Amino acid sequence: MHRANAAPRCSAKSKRSGKPCRDPAVRGWAVCRMHGAGGSAKPGYAHPNWKHGGRSGETVELRKLVNAPGRESRNVVDSME
Ligand SMILES: [Zn+2]
Repeated sequence: MHRANAAPRCSAKSKRSGKPCRDPAVRGWAVCRMHGAGGSAKPGYAHPNWKHGGRSGETVELRKLVNAPGRESRNVVDSME
């Protein structure tokens, strides 16, 4: 905890209360993640418009692989009990 407390603080001020944010600032930035550090949008999960990942190309491909042998492996599990 000591290291975290020694980190530079976010320079942003709360719009509502006027108090400083006090969250630790992201390295290389004067503000915390909530206040805009990190800059440009990242692809995938970190993207602000990311919903659930169910439509990402990778997930669709993975689902095909998982579903294909699905019924068969379920029967195998049942027959073992
Ligand atoms: Zn902040």
